[in-house]
Amino acid sequence: MEPVDVAVVGGGILGTSVAYWLAARYDGRFVVLEREARVAEHTSRRNTGVVHRPFYLHPKKRKVFARAAQVSYGLWKRYAAEKRLPFEEIGTYEVALNDESMGTLETYVTWAAENGMAPGEVELLDRSEMRRREPNVRCAGAILSKTDTCVDYRAFTEALKADAEALGTQFLFGGAVQEVHAYGGDLEVLLAGQSEPLRARFLVNCAGGEAIDVAHGAGVGLEYTDIHFRGEYWIVDPRVKNLVKRNVYSVPRHKDMPFLDPHWVVRANGGREIGPNAVPVPRANQYTGLHVLAWGEKLFEPPVANKVRLLMNPEFMNLAAAEMLSSVSKAEMLGRVQRFLPALKEEHLVGPGTAGVRSQVIDARGGMAREAIEVPGPQSYHILNYNSPGATGAPAYAAYLVDRLAARGDLDHVRKNPKPQSVWDWATVAKALGLAA
Ligand SMILES: Cc1cc2nc3c(=O)[nH]c(=O)nc-3n(C[C@H](O)[C@H](O)[C@H](O)COP(=O)(O)OP(=O)(O)OC[C@H]3O[C@@H](n4cnc5c(N)ncnc54)[C@H](O)[C@@H]3O)c2cc1C
Repeated sequence: MEPVDVAVVGGGILGTSVAYWLAARYDGRFVVLEREARVAEHTSRRNTGVVHRPFYLHPKKRKVFARAAQVSYGLWKRYAAEKRLPFEEIGTYEVALNDESMGTLETYVTWAAENGMAPGEVELLDRSEMRRREPNVRCAGAILSKTDTCVDYRAFTEALKADAEALGTQFLFGGAVQEVHAYGGDLEVLLAGQSEPLRARFLVNCAGGEAIDVAHGAGVGLEYTDIHFRGEYWIVDPRVKNLVKRNVYSVPRHKDMPFLDPHWVVRANGGREIGPNAVPVPRANQYTGLHVLAWGEKLFEPPVANKVRLLMNPEFMNLAAAEMLSSVSKAEMLGRVQRFLPALKEEHLVGPGTAGVRSQVIDARGGMAREAIEVPGPQSYHILNYNSPGATGAPAYAAYLVDRLAARGDLDHVRKNPKPQSVWDWATVAKALGLAA
């Protein structure tokens, strides 16, 4: 059988967006290889569901995510309108829990402007103004990001899949990519449950929480490993949903681990939840239980040194223990939210929400990577550490990736043939991202 031109591994929001732009720009045989029976079965539906505006992203250290989030906001807004999908611009308060954190909020105001947000999209509020606007919120002050938006990222991914299919992309479900080998001038992709390997001329790895495993299976990215953190949520009794009508986040206590502080979240269906926490779990798809015994296998998975260095960090170990406690104790997670929302009580948390897993790449120094990591391999390109705000930034980041692959010559075997698009305009996206176009 003839090889496909590009195989994208992973039908999450990133892989689906990459497939969409490939098919929108080129003629070729493009396939998405997704292990599950449908798209967005993992992190792309198991998240907080916020289109994050980039006020909190360092304009230089987190430049790629900041730019992708800024450009994608307009893309999602247009897409939601066209497809009639939820897009509720309810806004987010990021609150300072003490006077020292007010400096962080002032910095955020400058980052918002540097990242391209319009004047007036963010507002700095002092303690008394917050008291007046949100009597239930206790804080030293807050930044209000007015255009943060609640969405349903699975619905976005499914709509994008339909658009990619209309442009000729094929989605192959139910077979996990196990290994990737060079074969003649092509690649041979071994899929679970299939006797015949799939042949591909190029592979893009967007396997989310398992991207490192796929990369290692292709013999690349061997210097990296990962640790998985499960983010759990609690559903709030609808009778107290009006405690606050916007999202409430707090200034992170640990700058290197901003994902440790749970939020008050407004869902696209109008419900309220609190979460997520960040419970270390041994596997990417471990949505329940602590599975302490499975840690042996995870810790000895190569490269071991990265994890050993991280585990020798006493601060990390203390935090990990506290997070595990928050998984078994409702009161522990509630306590963190009560620091800014004391009116929320344990009896208001009526059931667990949908947990998701963040897969954090650990580098050779034992450090946690902040941005997405791109690892080129022979006839392949691997995206690791594609974490929050990855769902927000997916359409712009995917456009940037397709441009990058083209610039590297990785798409020289397919013919460029930009198709007219109904919702997004490549030229505008390319200009906003500073791409070659
Ligand atoms: C708790 C939590 C809350 C978050 N909240 C937000 C938020 O509010 N806003 C935001 O912008 N971002 C948020 N994020 C981040 C965002 O959800 C992710 O960055 C994004 O969904 C990643 O998309 P993805 O396509 O890379 O990964 P995924 O959605 O995980 O997709 C990867 C796909 O690859 C498939 N796969 C894996 N291995 C194989 C294999 N071997 N063969 C075939 N298929 C394979 C999987 O089945 C999966 O479908 C959050 C993340 C977490 C964990």
